[in-house]
Amino acid sequence: MDRYKKQRLRMVEGQIRARGISDERVLKAMETIPRHLFVDEGLIASAYSDNPLPIGERQTISQPYIVALMTQALSLTGKERVLEIGTGSGYQTAILASLCDRVFSIERIASLASRARRILDHLNFYNVAIRVGDGSWGWKEEAPFDAIITTAAAPRIPPYLIEQLAPGGRLVAPIGGRDVQTLYKMTRKADAPDELLPEDLGGCRFVSLIGESGWKE
Ligand code: SAH
Repeated sequence: MDRYKKQRLRMVEGQIRARGISDERVLKAMETIPRHLFVDEGLIASAYSDNPLPIGERQTISQPYIVALMTQALSLTGKERVLEIGTGSGYQTAILASLCDRVFSIERIASLASRARRILDHLNFYNVAIRVGDGSWGWKEEAPFDAIITTAAAPRIPPYLIEQLAPGGRLVAPIGGRDVQTLYKMTRKADAPDELLPEDLGGCRFVSLIGESGWKE
């Protein structure tokens, strides 16, 4: 077994399963996807540690546990079309891509988007489309989505994203102030699509969503 595989197994047992994540497909994906390829070379030794890491442009790759928590909340079975706002390193994108049918991911910063694209291509994730722009608007041409995830914090749930959520769909997003937020899961009821069921998944700290539904630079 290579040394990174060992580190991944340890990460999943110690940081993720131990904290209550139980979706076996999520655990398996996190044991498989090489997180160290998504961090800067100088940080490879910390790739599997229990914290976020800088990825350049003042952005971060989320802590592994948070990736697991958000992914589990989307309840993916393999058939879904998923919209992600905030591609960043592409690590969360890869986890999603291995658990659903297609991922549509939007990143504001072109250099991060192209770096993520390169790594995802290298790992043969052909079911990922990446677009550069403000994810506040969602991706109208490809809507509706069975699941939507935003990995940048906003003061409120971006209304265009709610519009693009399919009946029965799940949206997971950090909502709150610039420094601390609450992670919310919203489910659009299948039998009453006008109703959204909110769930509080706990406190979190994300970088800011910059754009129409977020903050100015
Ligand atoms: N899931 C990523 C998290 C990256 S941090 C990872 O684990 O690597 C959040 C990302 O959201 C940053 O890359 C930031 O540039 C991006 N972002 C911020 N506002 C955005 C917006 N309005 N639209 C799209 N991406 C945005």
